[in-house]
Amino acid sequence: MQKDNRLIRVTVGEVVGGTHVHSQTFTAVLVPEPGLYPVTRQTKVWFLDGGRPKPVLRISRTQIPLVPAYAITAHGSQGKTLPAAMADFNVDRWTDITFGTVAGSRVRSREDILILRPFPLWLFQRGAPEGPELLLKTLRGEKIDWVNYREARAPSAPCQQCKVVKPVDYFADAQWDKARANLPATCLTCIHKDGGACKRKMPSNVERLRCIGCGFEKVEHAFPRAQLRQPRAEERRNCIACLKNVSELTCSQCAEVKPLKEFHLSALTLPWAAACQSCQDAVRGKARRLRAGWEKCRGCAAFLPTSSAVYINQRCPNCAADRKWGKHTCLRCKRKWSENSAEEQIRKRFCPNCR
Ligand SMILES: [Zn+2]
Ligand SMILES: [Zn+2]
Ligand SMILES: [Zn+2]
Ligand SMILES: [Zn+2]
Ligand SMILES: [Zn+2]
Repeated sequence: MQKDNRLIRVTVGEVVGGTHVHSQTFTAVLVPEPGLYPVTRQTKVWFLDGGRPKPVLRISRTQIPLVPAYAITAHGSQGKTLPAAMADFNVDRWTDITFGTVAGSRVRSREDILILRPFPLWLFQRGAPEGPELLLKTLRGEKIDWVNYREARAPSAPCQQCKVVKPVDYFADAQWDKARANLPATCLTCIHKDGGACKRKMPSNVERLRCIGCGFEKVEHAFPRAQLRQPRAEERRNCIACLKNVSELTCSQCAEVKPLKEFHLSALTLPWAAACQSCQDAVRGKARRLRAGWEKCRGCAAFLPTSSAVYINQRCPNCAADRKWGKHTCLRCKRKWSENSAEEQIRKRFCPNCR
């Protein structure tokens, strides 16, 4: 169906003439019928050593003569001018949007392109991409909050040893968990004093979450774990930078408003459960059985009221590591079992057989 090497719109074709196809074992007659193109079995014979005076390496192949069509990616087609093309523009959200321009401009006229699937609608509804938008703003001379943009991509925290403010990739994972909980953290350079990696690789394609406080879309690392684990977090979560602007907190126990230094350092990451030092000290001296309603975090050693803070495996929401919900290991028989329970529930210690 080619004419001047151009693609003709061929949804329903028409066989103009009938031909007898002969092969060794099979004969077919083409019936002149619109849209029907019979493909018959064929045998081809050739010699591998065809250049010799007396060739002996005879090859015979019988097959249906079908070959895969010529298909390339948009990147592979870059720079080519094609006589005709069929393009698929149905990109997913990870594909660069310039992909469409590359694929669509490989032909000379609109007659030469057949669009298999058009661009998806969401592509035109998601707004301008961050990079070009910032470039345009800079060129227009608009004021850009660079500090917040940098914080949104790579949040930073001071190192407790060298006192230098460094971005997240200069801290080990466990140390950054402390930094995002507003606890003192040590950078990789100070940990590896005698040489070693001072930076770690962070995944680049991470989902951004909107901070309710500043309205910026920030990476997950910019939020304290407690903020992400609170109920209805999408409507309430604040990034660590926003939380640090607070100068006083209300104690959830004595209901007094006190300056920040009267609280445990991590208290500002979960203000709804904050308990002042004097309220904590009153509990600290007591034996475990006498401090009902309070739990001591195994990670940061803070005392928090269990009524307002969700304890996971005896750790506060900041210190608890991410783990699969509903998966437990029995303390007695060491067997693993899974049991779905609400997040608020205390982790089960013994499997159903050992209880
Ligand atoms: Zn340091
Ligand atoms: Zn914020
Ligand atoms: Zn108090
Ligand atoms: Zn903790
Ligand atoms: Zn068991």
